[in-house]
Amino acid sequence: MRPDALLYPTPDGLYCPEGQFHVDPVRPVARALITHGHSDHARAGHRAVMATRQTLDIMRIRYGEGFCESEQAVGFGEEVMVDGVRVSFHPAGHVLGSAQIAIEKAGTRIVVSGDYKRRADPTCAAYVPVPCDVFITEATFGLPVFHHPDPAGEMAKLYASLRRFPERTHLIGAYALGKAQRVIRLLRDTGYDAPIYIHGAMERLCAYYVSQGIDLGELRPATVETSEKADFKGAIVVGPSSAFADRWARRFNEPLPAFASGWMMIRQRAKQQGIELPLVISDHCDWPELTETITDLAPDEVWVTHGREEALVRWCELRGVKAKPLHLVGYEDEAE
Ligand SMILES: [Zn+2]
Repeated sequence: MRPDALLYPTPDGLYCPEGQFHVDPVRPVARALITHGHSDHARAGHRAVMATRQTLDIMRIRYGEGFCESEQAVGFGEEVMVDGVRVSFHPAGHVLGSAQIAIEKAGTRIVVSGDYKRRADPTCAAYVPVPCDVFITEATFGLPVFHHPDPAGEMAKLYASLRRFPERTHLIGAYALGKAQRVIRLLRDTGYDAPIYIHGAMERLCAYYVSQGIDLGELRPATVETSEKADFKGAIVVGPSSAFADRWARRFNEPLPAFASGWMMIRQRAKQQGIELPLVISDHCDWPELTETITDLAPDEVWVTHGREEALVRWCELRGVKAKPLHLVGYEDEAE
C-alpha cells in the first residue's frame, strides 16, 4: 500500500482514511489516536479517543471527565485493529505515557513518533526504536546548532547558583507536564533532599506522577498564605514561567528566575524572558539524536513535522533517504 494513501495531512491533522481516524488532531474529530498529553497534541472534544492509559488519565486531569465521549486504553506493544488497520503504541521517552503510534496495512508500516527523546529520563518509559517503512519525526530542535548538554551539568549550574545566592528563592520555570516532574526528579537524583515548593498549576500532575510510581520526594505548595516568607529563603520553587511576572512570584525572597527548556540554548531568548539562570533541559531530541534515530531506523521515507523541517529534510536527501515536510499547523512546543 502506498504510504501517502495510508496516512496524509489534513487541516485537522494526520488522517488515516482506511481506519477513519486522525492522529493528534488539532480540531475535534470522530476518532482520535493521541501520542501524548501535551495540549498541542491532546485536545478536548473528540468523540472517541485511543491512547495509553497514562495519556488518557492526563487528559482527564487537564480537561475534566467529559474530555471525550468514549476512550480506549492501549498498552505498549499491544496490537489493535481499527477498521482493518493494525495500530500499536510504543514508548517515545518524551513525557509520562508518551507513545509513538505504528500504523500498518497491507505490508506498509508508518510510525508517528509524536514528540520523542532518547536521553535517559526516569519519569517515563524509554524510547524504543520501531522498524518502519515511513518514520514521521518531529523537528523541534531540527538544526545542527542544537546540541543539548548533559542535564547533570545543568543541575550543577543550579547548585552553584544556590551556593552563591543562599538567600534568594530560586524559581525554576518548567512546563507543567513532564518538564516539571523531570526537573524535580533530577534534583532528587543529584542529592537534593530538601522540600521542593510547587506552583498550584502543577499539583495534580505531580500527584499523578507520584501515583504512577515516580518518587518526587517532599513537595510543598508554593503559597505564601500558609507559610512565612522566610521559609522560601534559598528554597527551590518550580512553577510555570508565565507566573513569574505575577504577584505570586514577587512575594518570594529576591526571586532568581531560572527556566528549564531546550530553548535556553539560545541566550537571547533567555535574556528576553528575563531569565537569570537558563537551564538547557529538553524533552525533545537534539540534532544528533534526530539524525542518529533516522540512521538507526533506516526507513524508506522520512516525513518531517512541527519545527525546523527543511534542514532535516535536506539532511535526509543528502544521504539518499526520501524525505518531505508535512507542514502540519497547530503544534507549538515553545515551552518544552
Ligand atoms: Zn510534547
